[in-house]
Amino acid sequence: MEDSDSYNKTAENMQGSTFRKPHFATHQQHKNCSDEGGPIIEISKTCRTTPVEDGIVRINCAPLLYKLGLIRFFKNTSLWFVKDICGIVCAIFTWLLIIYAEFVVMFVMLIPSPYPAYSMSNAILFNFFAFLAVASHLRAMFSDPGAVPKGNATRENIMKMGLKEGQVVYKCPKCISIKPERAHHCSVCQRCIRKMDHHCPWVNNCVGENNQKYFVLFTMYICLISIHAIYMAVQHFIICLGKDWKECSGVSAPATTVFLILLVFEGLLFGIFTAIMCGSQMSSICSDETVSILYHMFDMNTITPVQIVFL
Ligand SMILES: [Zn+2]
Ligand SMILES: [Zn+2]
Repeated sequence: MEDSDSYNKTAENMQGSTFRKPHFATHQQHKNCSDEGGPIIEISKTCRTTPVEDGIVRINCAPLLYKLGLIRFFKNTSLWFVKDICGIVCAIFTWLLIIYAEFVVMFVMLIPSPYPAYSMSNAILFNFFAFLAVASHLRAMFSDPGAVPKGNATRENIMKMGLKEGQVVYKCPKCISIKPERAHHCSVCQRCIRKMDHHCPWVNNCVGENNQKYFVLFTMYICLISIHAIYMAVQHFIICLGKDWKECSGVSAPATTVFLILLVFEGLLFGIFTAIMCGSQMSSICSDETVSILYHMFDMNTITPVQIVFL
């Protein structure tokens, strides 16, 4: 029902701009592969009769959650997973970078530090945001970004939408789905995604209507832990310069220096990158569809207060 409304809205928005008069015929350029009669069906590029192969798999976790007795805690037990080797490598690389930062912060800097209060407070703060970064990354990666049902652009479904004469229905030529407004076809996922922003290899998923909030939070948490790690690395270097290195670091002086330089380099690179990404995402949210996306991000009916702030 929601889909139908969305498609009606799409068609209404497009009406008048493309076709001024009510028109009950197939698009002339594609008359050989469109349905005859009914609302106008606009198809771009080539026409297919069967959808392309999915670039994603849905993993059903219900049996496992049921065995573990956790089924009641999960509304959605199906994981969305993109079958893209490049994306999988990038996502694993992201986790390895976080693990590296975690290792240097904890085992090179904080645990051997002679200041327990400083170590404890920074360890809690860093681990808290690192945990949220990983959690939001997993949510962004394994959530359906807003895929349009595949192959639903059948004559029966289009007729069920109750469109008026001349209304336009956009049909994706690849996944044979009815494209709502602002939906785009992703060539990696091989699906049409509602309000698709881009396909991000770092989360191995599209960023769309349903997972944009997790992506924005992921970039924000990575930016925060990058700034924090750079601050601690500089602080540690200054502390160690005036002391015996064995007292303030878990490893030798040259090894500590290399670890710290690599951590600062990683922090600068990903801190700047995620700050730009987070800023551009927030800017696009504020300048376009502000109310609907922000409402979706902080929907009081579906998200608990903890999730509103952190996830
Ligand atoms: Zn498509
Ligand atoms: Zn995609």
